[in-house]
Amino acid sequence: MREDTKAVQSAGTAQGRDASHAGTPERGKSASGPGALERGKSASGPGAPERGKSVSGPGALVQAKPVSLSGGSVHAKPVGHAKPVPGTADGEKSRYKKISEEAVKPADSITGRRKKKAAPPEEAIVLDHVVKTYQMGAPALNGISLKVKRGEFVFIVGDSGSGKSTLIKLLLRELLPTEGSITVNGTNVVRLRRRKIPKFRRGIGVVFQDFRLLKDRNVYDNVAFAQLVIQAKARDIRRNVPMMLSLVGLAGKYKAKPKQLSGGEQQRVALARALVNNPPILLADEPTGNLDPKNSWEIMKLLEEINEKGTTVLVVTHNREIVNAMKKRVITMKKGVIVSDEEQGAYIDED
Ligand code: ADP
Ligand code: MG
Repeated sequence: MREDTKAVQSAGTAQGRDASHAGTPERGKSASGPGALERGKSASGPGAPERGKSVSGPGALVQAKPVSLSGGSVHAKPVGHAKPVPGTADGEKSRYKKISEEAVKPADSITGRRKKKAAPPEEAIVLDHVVKTYQMGAPALNGISLKVKRGEFVFIVGDSGSGKSTLIKLLLRELLPTEGSITVNGTNVVRLRRRKIPKFRRGIGVVFQDFRLLKDRNVYDNVAFAQLVIQAKARDIRRNVPMMLSLVGLAGKYKAKPKQLSGGEQQRVALARALVNNPPILLADEPTGNLDPKNSWEIMKLLEEINEKGTTVLVVTHNREIVNAMKKRVITMKKGVIVSDEEQGAYIDED
């Protein structure tokens, strides 16, 4: 297993950029957050695990159990007792102060062992007058302002070249804006230090048109890879990977290599990888661009289901039929600006 782990990790270095996208927030911090996927439920979701097949052999798929990810992984910290400096009047004073403060606190704040978390931001994504100019040509984005609330599902549509992928890259901090501000998951992306980028990206799952799977690795390892990147515990990996594969209806194919799968199945693997670390946001850049209508629908329904479990989902697409049928918020871009933003919108015809 250790050999295997190494191999996956080294395979990953070549695709380091993708790897950090595949990952998500620090376990414990995010898993119990409001954006968290309700994993317990998901195990019984569509394509429930094909148990008979899956529970055998090394690296075998473990039966998915509904387990709260937050359980045991939050580092419990005792309520802080001020440490008096021994033998000083100050020390004595602070100790008494602490005791008297505690006497008037409600019981649960005295006994509660967990550090209080800051409330997550209400907005998952905020862009304010964002301009992005590449070295040459007209700006790819020319004054975009946009808010996406936590838990929303949003389609981004627009002609080729209208700036949709540039927007996705800015949200991932693959690019910096020329002007304007961008906040994702409460992080100011423009001010984000380079060394903090990998951790930031763990809060965003991402899928692309071309799947971007590790070709020489099987389905299980492709998904497990995202967990290895964040140094998840082996037992968490054994639990989470099968659960995600069940969610996307691929529990029975965990040993298959990408080339043995259909396009739709490959995109499901990519989706499982994007979600296995429980990110509060999922970005999808034309996820159905290479798929036939049936598989496109299945992927979109899966995205909707993921959204219903609490993940904020932003999908760039050209799929007019699906956009019109799903009645979600639709943002239409044209030449780097937003020309329409409608709740329960539809694909707007050009001209
Ligand atoms: P979309 O995803 O909507 O098709 P993009 O965001 O990919 O649009 O592109 C928006 C505009 O920016 C296009 O005119 C494109 O040619 C230009 N563009 C995209 N990437 C680059 C780049 N790396 N260098 C220069 N121009 C780019
Ligand atoms: Mg694009």
